[in-house]
Amino acid sequence: TATVQFPLHTAVREFLSGPHGLLIGGEWVPAASGRTFPTYDPATGEKITDVAHGEAEDVDRAVAAARKAFEEGPWARMKPNERERLIWRVGDLLSERAEIFGQLEALDNGKSAMIAQVVDTEWAADVFRYYAGWATKIEGSTVNVSMPFVPDGQFHAYTLREPVGVCGQIIPWNFPLLMASWKIAPALAAGNTVVLKPAEQTPLTALLLGQLFEEAGFPPGVVNVVTGFGDAGAAIAAHDGVDKVAFTGSTEVGKKIVDAAKGNLKKVSLELGGKSPNVVFADADFDIAVPGSVNAWLFNHGQCCVAGTRLFVEDKIFDEFTQAVAEAAAQVKIGPGLDPATQLGPMVSQEQFDRVSRYLSEGLADGARALTGGKPWGERGYFIEPTVFVDVRPEFSIVREEIFGPVVAALPFNAEQGVEAAANNSEYGLAAGVWTRDVSKAHRTAKALKAGSVWVNQYNGFDTAMPFGGYKQSGWGRELGAAALDLYTQTKAVNIAL
Ligand code: ADP
Repeated sequence: TATVQFPLHTAVREFLSGPHGLLIGGEWVPAASGRTFPTYDPATGEKITDVAHGEAEDVDRAVAAARKAFEEGPWARMKPNERERLIWRVGDLLSERAEIFGQLEALDNGKSAMIAQVVDTEWAADVFRYYAGWATKIEGSTVNVSMPFVPDGQFHAYTLREPVGVCGQIIPWNFPLLMASWKIAPALAAGNTVVLKPAEQTPLTALLLGQLFEEAGFPPGVVNVVTGFGDAGAAIAAHDGVDKVAFTGSTEVGKKIVDAAKGNLKKVSLELGGKSPNVVFADADFDIAVPGSVNAWLFNHGQCCVAGTRLFVEDKIFDEFTQAVAEAAAQVKIGPGLDPATQLGPMVSQEQFDRVSRYLSEGLADGARALTGGKPWGERGYFIEPTVFVDVRPEFSIVREEIFGPVVAALPFNAEQGVEAAANNSEYGLAAGVWTRDVSKAHRTAKALKAGSVWVNQYNGFDTAMPFGGYKQSGWGRELGAAALDLYTQTKAVNIAL
């Protein structure tokens, strides 16, 4: 197995050997039903370990613990600078143990351990430290009120920004630890308490992260972790004791979250799917646009909500550019995430492997031509070859639908006719890339694209301080940056007659 071939850190072994309970009210407890479920190594298909199978009853317990911590516990009375110190400590602990988290993530998710260490874990640490800084900087304002219907009155009016309360947070399997940090850190900075449900495919790093809150000195019940399946997520979304639900995942499930949240009209934020356009003009710098466009759709094995999977290339350079992209993609080293040489790991699960394989067949049946790839790779594990499709039409499923695998569809465009309409022809609007040496063209195109993030002469240009979220059916609200604090605070207007 991968475990034998690539030796694991002692701390990873120790973690894997222990029981994996739910974190509720500061205790590690089994599921109320006593049930567990297995999590698998996608590079081999073999079981890694079992974790507690949380269900509605466990969600009830976790919500009660989060409520108690929010209303009564030391957390409710804690000063912002004390919250700051605790949140910062989690960031530092993550950095100290980045190698351990990286390996565990690689094992559970399939991604490269090196990337999981340097990108997923160190960035998660950065997110905790960034929001630690915000804890002391969340401010209301004083307001110059006129109150024309009280002509003689004198007033002192101001706003308070208060936490929303108990936040339910449901995350996907593509960046398990990182998504946990995006959700938990701003919620804590604003003084909320949290019930986190990791994805059933990748529960492990969220559990290891759960240990850090204890170690950092968080009061019990501030962060609760319930591992389980969609039904546990649905229980969170529908729970009357939850004040806000934050979800990252598919657009399909996002709509179910909105439905479920209706009961108590809890606040909802959503980060959903994408089918992002990556636009390459003929004047682009080839040397950066080729590797950049490969990174745009191949990073994390194409399992990115922002993946630039509709590659629009100006017709003058279409053949040359797509050929270069296909050649670069064909050279990518495929293998298990724990192999230091690996650049492209397996799909996260059998289900995801089947789904991507189905899209490959559909694309070929529709008449698309694969410049490279087009099929699964290797004897075992859930590997798919990087695939570049040309000869595609806008109505093909591989052009319209989110595949979440290493598959890109390339479409030529004519600069005179413009590319914006074609690029915007999607129900999604998460991200977009633009490659050009012409600064005016870059700004014009960035403005015309209907997407929450636009990256020019780079792709995946994320930063903790930059707001991130979707136009159209890619989501509601913005995470990261100061914007995330809007999701986790509510404003109270106080007006005092003097
Ligand atoms: P993906 O398609 O990327 O697997 P999903 O949207 O299915 O993403 O899953 C993302 C997260 O949502 C996971 O934690 C999953 O367990 C959870 N989930 C799935 N179905 C539901 C549901 N009906 N209500 C709430 N959460 C759900």
